[in-house]
Amino acid sequence: RVISAKAGGVDEVRIERAIRPHRLEDYVGQPAVREQLGISIEAARRRKEALDHVLIFGPPGLGKTTLAHILAEEMGVNLRQTSGPVLERAGDLAALLTNLEPNDILFVDEIHRLSPVVEEVLYPAMEDYQLDIMIGEGPAARSIRLDLPPFTLVGATTRAGALTSPLRDRFGIVQRLEFYSIPDLTSIVTRSASILKAPLEGQGAEEIARRSRGTPRIANRLLRRVRDYAEVRGDGVITEKLAAEALKLLNVDANGFDLMDRKLMMALIERFDGGPAGVENLAAAIGEARDTIEDVIEPYLIQQGYLMRTPRGRIAGKLAYQHYGLKMPEKLNT
Ligand code: ADP
Repeated sequence: RVISAKAGGVDEVRIERAIRPHRLEDYVGQPAVREQLGISIEAARRRKEALDHVLIFGPPGLGKTTLAHILAEEMGVNLRQTSGPVLERAGDLAALLTNLEPNDILFVDEIHRLSPVVEEVLYPAMEDYQLDIMIGEGPAARSIRLDLPPFTLVGATTRAGALTSPLRDRFGIVQRLEFYSIPDLTSIVTRSASILKAPLEGQGAEEIARRSRGTPRIANRLLRRVRDYAEVRGDGVITEKLAAEALKLLNVDANGFDLMDRKLMMALIERFDGGPAGVENLAAAIGEARDTIEDVIEPYLIQQGYLMRTPRGRIAGKLAYQHYGLKMPEKLNT
């Protein structure tokens, strides 16, 4: 059992790598982002300069990391990857920056979680390609200034609002990723299935796309689970019927809402009478971290109109009552 679980894990990583698009032209959807980045890349390449610093924000699984890797491939440079919480001390960042080659990309995931000291070091590095570091301690301590090669910082965050404004202002290019449309997700699922050599009917692809919460990572994950189901319960071909059966088994409903979505919406409806309810209270009610609600669960529910975010708290939308077959209280029905 342990062995098979481990093999499954390694397999998922391998599959993940195989289906990740490597060029901008294979990056499905997000037309505005693609066009703007395409122009910036082309211009920087012609001038043989580093690409301007890029900030990408959007909910998890929408393709921020994928885009960072694509930028490096399109620019023909190396990418070094790290994340906000990992860079604890200024020295951690200095070590990465001084190892870059000209025009390389430094990708910092969860950039809103950088510590203030690391952020301070980042400002002159981004602005003037200079690094001010303290060496030594006590009376012997002194500050030295190092020149860095030109480089591109690509930052990714789930929340643009959580970035300090001095940091945000230092990005020349800011792109926001939107949830994907069903046709875009259908293309992603179809492309992934062909790489995995999984036979997939058009209607089957659409069924998976409809239930993927607008998110490519979820679409690819559901595809793998549906493929397993089609191989075991069917003849391997992913049809609409087999996809629907498999997704039902996975507790993914017709709208793509899973158990967490259900828990959140039912708590809001039943325990808070539809709201408004503060996010802390909701978090306590469903036993999830506040960050999980804000970053992972609610953005899609809000985008779809099932949940509203108001200054007084979260409110359940009419669609939420309809979806779960419940009657809306009069106070909300205005
Ligand atoms: P994030 O960094 O925003 O959490 P990722 O870049 O890791 O998301 O994307 C998750 C997965 O979804 C990737 O492995 C990739 O295969 C797929 N994916 C994301 N965006 C796209 C896209 N625009 N086109 C095709 N596949 C995508």
